[in-house]
Amino acid sequence: AKQLGRNGFTLFNTELREQAEQRILLLKDMRHALTQNQFEMHFQPIVSMQTKKITKAEALIRWQHPDKGMINPAEFIPLAEETQLIHQLGELAFDQAVHVLQQTRDLNRPIQLSINVSPIQFSAKHTTLLAWQQQLAKHQLTPDMLVLEITEGLMMQGEGRSQKRLTKLIQQGFSIALDDFGTGYSSLAYLKQMDTEFIKIDKRFVDGIEHNQNDLVLCETMILMAHQLGLKVIAEGIETATQHELLKQAGCDFGQGYFYSKPLPKTVFINYLTAQGH
Ligand code: C2E
Ligand code: CA
Ligand code: CA
Ligand code: CA
Repeated sequence: AKQLGRNGFTLFNTELREQAEQRILLLKDMRHALTQNQFEMHFQPIVSMQTKKITKAEALIRWQHPDKGMINPAEFIPLAEETQLIHQLGELAFDQAVHVLQQTRDLNRPIQLSINVSPIQFSAKHTTLLAWQQQLAKHQLTPDMLVLEITEGLMMQGEGRSQKRLTKLIQQGFSIALDDFGTGYSSLAYLKQMDTEFIKIDKRFVDGIEHNQNDLVLCETMILMAHQLGLKVIAEGIETATQHELLKQAGCDFGQGYFYSKPLPKTVFINYLTAQGH
C-alpha cells in the first residue's frame, strides 16, 4: 500500500507539473497572438422581444489560432485574468467596439453595444477604464452607447477601488448590465445597491423553461422584480421559438441567443444589421 501511495504521489506531481507547463505554453502563445493580431471580437445580435429587431449586440472575444483554429474565451480568459493580459484584451474589446459603434452610426443604423469587463479591470491598481469616456468623445460617441457587462464578482469586493470606479463610470453615463443574473448568491442585495440598467438572465434558466415549470416561474419572477426596480431584462441563450414566446409573454425586454443569431464576425454582423434595416 505504501508503494501504491508513493506512485500515486508521483503521478500527482507529474500531473501538476504538466498543468503548469501547459499554462506557461498557453501564456506564451497568448502573448505572441497579441502581437500577431490573432484576437478579434465577434458580435451577437440582441433583439427587442416584441419586434425581433436588433437593437443591441454583445461583443465576444475570439482567438483565431493559426494551428488550433478558433479558441473560445473560456479557455484563455481565466489565465489572462491571472496574468494581467486581461488589460490588453479588454482594450482590444473596447477599441473594436468603438469601431463598430462608429460604423453603425455612420450607416445610420445605431445600436447599443455590450462589452464584458473583467473584475480585474476594475480592481487593478492601474486601469484604462477611466479613459474610455474621452476615447469615445474623440469619435463623437457617448458612453450611453456602450453597456458594460459586469458580474457579481466585481461587487463582492465591497468598498474598494472597484466600487468607486463603477460609480464613476455610471456618473459618466455608461450603461451597466449585471451578467449571469441569478447564478450568484447575493444578486438581490447588489441589485439594490447598484445603479444598473439591465440584468441578463443566465442561459441555464432559459434552457429549462419549456419543460421545467420551476425555471419558467424563476424567469417570470426575475422579470417582474427587475421591472419593479426599474431595470430592463435581457435573456441570454434563447435557442427555440417556444423559449422566445414564453419569455416574451413573461414581459422580457430583450433576447439574445442562437434562435436569433450566433455571434458573427464584424463584417458579417454589420451586413446582417444593415440588411434588416430599421
Ligand atoms: P457570457 O458573457 O455569459 O457570454 C454569453 C456566452 O453564451 C457566449 O459564449 C455566447 O457565445 C454564448 N451564447 C449565446 N447565445 C447562446 C445560445 O443560444 N446557445 C449557446 N449554447 N450559447 C450561447 P462565449 O463567446 O464562448 O463566451 C464565454 C464567456 O467568456 C462569456 O460569457 C464571458 O464571460 C467571457 N468573455 C467573452 N468575451 C469576453 C471579453 O471580451 N472579455 C471578458 N472579460 N470576458 C469575455
Ligand atoms: Ca456577457
Ligand atoms: Ca452572460
Ligand atoms: Ca453566461
